[in-house]
Amino acid sequence: MKNTIKLIMVAIIGIFMVACGNTGEEKVSKVYVGTNAEFAPFEYLEDGKTVGFDMDLMEAISKEIGIEIEIKDMAFDGLLPALQAKKIDMIIAGMTATEERKKAVNFSETYYKANQVIITAEKAEDIANFDGLKGKKVGVILGFTGDVVVSKIKGVETKKYNAGYVAIMDLKEGKIDAVVLDGEPAKNFVKNNEGIKITSAEGEKEEYAMAVSKDNEELLKKINIALTTLKGNGTYDKLLKKWF
Ligand code: GLN
Repeated sequence: MKNTIKLIMVAIIGIFMVACGNTGEEKVSKVYVGTNAEFAPFEYLEDGKTVGFDMDLMEAISKEIGIEIEIKDMAFDGLLPALQAKKIDMIIAGMTATEERKKAVNFSETYYKANQVIITAEKAEDIANFDGLKGKKVGVILGFTGDVVVSKIKGVETKKYNAGYVAIMDLKEGKIDAVVLDGEPAKNFVKNNEGIKITSAEGEKEEYAMAVSKDNEELLKKINIALTTLKGNGTYDKLLKKWF
């Protein structure tokens, strides 16, 4: 009797191992990639499609790793919770790898260096640096690193927005004195809007990286290897030239 039970158990374990082995090797499961398509030129919507530097980079990475991806567009401050709840497998969204966020997720190697800048009305002359924001009404986007940077400066009246273009509209209408935003999207807004400029003040460097959940070391490793390959074979530089 004891031997029969032992045999059955060995058989069950055997079947389980074979089953696991097979799924691991043969099944290419889809990787869901979260982004927030309101951050040109990194990610934005064009004719209903999510395009931008991050999207091209992600496409190249997926080809390199041999995975199928599906982009999930959502609010920026919903990305980390979605990753933690396993609704998505990773994030690429011009996201800065901050110490605070590192507590919740793992970040890939850096793929872009950026910094916060200040946008004001073209004629405004009194905001020369970040301290110059004291006493001013400053627009930030909810949950962005710019929000964190400005919230640390005492004496600033911040107005939080859900989307960058709404903050820019308010700036143009004189409802706020400045908007603090990442450099590249800021340039994009200034290019497409009359009467605003980027001041010479530059915030600290920030590093963009892809986020993966803490228990998915495997995917993170593959992403990092792919990133190194793409940087080495010229693909990454080609994308930089295309978008910046
Ligand atoms: N780099 C900024 C951050 O991580 C903004 C990112 C974004 O809006 N996509 O908060």
